[in-house]
Amino acid sequence: MPNPLIEIQHLSKRYGSIWALRDITLNVEAGTRLTLLGPNGSGKTTLIRILARLSSPSSGSLKMFGSDLHTQGDEVRKQIGVVSHTSFLYPALTAVENLTFYAGMFGVSQTTETIESLLYEVGLLERQHDLVRTFSRGMQQRLAIARAILHQPTLLLFDEPYSGLDGAAVNLLQHILTNIHHEGRTIILTTHNYRSGLDFCDQAAVLVSGRLVYYGSPAHIRIAAKNPDFPETPG
Ligand code: ATP
Repeated sequence: MPNPLIEIQHLSKRYGSIWALRDITLNVEAGTRLTLLGPNGSGKTTLIRILARLSSPSSGSLKMFGSDLHTQGDEVRKQIGVVSHTSFLYPALTAVENLTFYAGMFGVSQTTETIESLLYEVGLLERQHDLVRTFSRGMQQRLAIARAILHQPTLLLFDEPYSGLDGAAVNLLQHILTNIHHEGRTIILTTHNYRSGLDFCDQAAVLVSGRLVYYGSPAHIRIAAKNPDFPETPG
């Protein structure tokens, strides 16, 4: 059996006296859609930030793409795309201009066709020449996805994709993420919304106060949610 894409062993992250993550052990196979669930402050963003190499663990080990965190070069970073609350888009530029700007910044070669194909993929081709400040939250999320996959990463990390979106926008976003997954990408996203989170995943991990308390298929988590000690399940 091939090695997992991501191997997390006894990983912890401390901010002073606060344990953002405690002793997390988790493997993610290539091609998996993994949802990180949990209430506010449970450690989801911290884990995404560590996977994105924006933050380092306090202890424990993390292997990605077969190499240890401490020995990974920039090659690993090139295989990761990130969408987070802080993914900045320029409101006074058009969708095309935003992608062209970021492609240049990331050193990704692009043509009009590659940019148009990305915008088509996220359902924004018809709005390509509109200013981003005229876009809804859902449209901005979709443009942020296009930006995150400009360099064709194999792993997409997405922090709180459903936040601030209505049901129709969530459905559209999940449809686009499904297509991106079918292209062979592994997707890890966070949400505190159990319903949306379990609708779009192969595996789910539930974090509470930095600890991994449940892990399994959506069906497994739905059964576990019937336990009285299961964390509160908004949505
Ligand atoms: P939310 O859904 O509210 O974003 P979360 O599950 O993503 O929550 P984290 O943001 O990872 O949780 O936070 C986990 C814990 O770590 C919280 O107690 C938070 O206050 C703390 N924390 C996170 N980042 C920092 C930081 N830079 N400095 C200090 N404490 C932090």
